[in-house]
Amino acid sequence: ARRTALSAVRGPGRTADGHPVPLLANVGGPAELAAAVDAGAEGVGLYRTEFLFLDRIEPPSAEEQRSAYRAALEAFPGGDVVVRTLDGGADKPLAFLPVPAEPNPALGERGLRQFRRFPEVMEAQLGALAAVAAQGLRVMAPMVATAEEAVWFAQACRAKGLPSAGVMIEIPSAALRAAHLLEPVDFISIGTNDLAQYAFAADRQVSAVGVLNDPWQPALLDLVAMTAEAASSAGKPCGVCGESAADPALACVFTGLGVSTLSMGAAALAAVRAALAAHTLEQCRRAAEAARAQVTAARARVAARAYLPGLG
Ligand code: PEP
Ligand code: MG
Repeated sequence: ARRTALSAVRGPGRTADGHPVPLLANVGGPAELAAAVDAGAEGVGLYRTEFLFLDRIEPPSAEEQRSAYRAALEAFPGGDVVVRTLDGGADKPLAFLPVPAEPNPALGERGLRQFRRFPEVMEAQLGALAAVAAQGLRVMAPMVATAEEAVWFAQACRAKGLPSAGVMIEIPSAALRAAHLLEPVDFISIGTNDLAQYAFAADRQVSAVGVLNDPWQPALLDLVAMTAEAASSAGKPCGVCGESAADPALACVFTGLGVSTLSMGAAALAAVRAALAAHTLEQCRRAAEAARAQVTAARARVAARAYLPGLG
């Protein structure tokens, strides 16, 4: 019966009282686009472009890049497609962009930081994106720590004539200063995987500290709340694209915190769509408030669910 109930909810993401929450897919390469379309994704909230650069010593050609980006735009002609620029280093090492050996790769030259050393790689990627740019194309940078970096990236996007530039909020300094990072960009997207890792100083690849990397930790909810509030004051969209958006109760809590879109693996879309459809925005807000008032992740989870009766 539960299966039927999940697939019975169709159409765009929205709460029971009609507040729209576009539900987007996290996509790791062109092969995953069909599943995202089939699952009813309204667009792509995170197109991870590492697949183009992995396992090779030469960068992909311009045509190879253009065709990969075109594939995503063609899969979602009416929707937003958020393409993230290369996020190499740390948990995504790339043979062709060598960085000196580092004692703490998660704190080293990774993500946008690699483009300081290899600006030609960023130029080529933004150029390929500009060449296929269509209405829904949004380009965002990973691992942005400061407002200066947001300005640098936004200017590089504008110089190529890209229609929309954004940054990920996945470092606590970026969440703390979200209002300033928002100024030069058109949107932001919260990456809760890394945001948790850096907030709790708990390596996402070390299972012994995995219990700390719990997105229900009230401190993480505070960082999401502060970021969403800054975006709403600026009148700019704020998504969540970390794995945590795939948790139906947490998706409701993020909605209650003011997040405007949710992006997740395609397999999670039906359950999240159903959870939102079963609760009003007010219930989501209360669930969020109750969760943030708790002292532990376990209690936050329980407290939120008390306001989300539709989750069973
Ligand atoms: C994140 O950090 O939450 C995120 C979405 O990016 P990735 O998992 O690719 O680092
Ligand atoms: Mg990340």
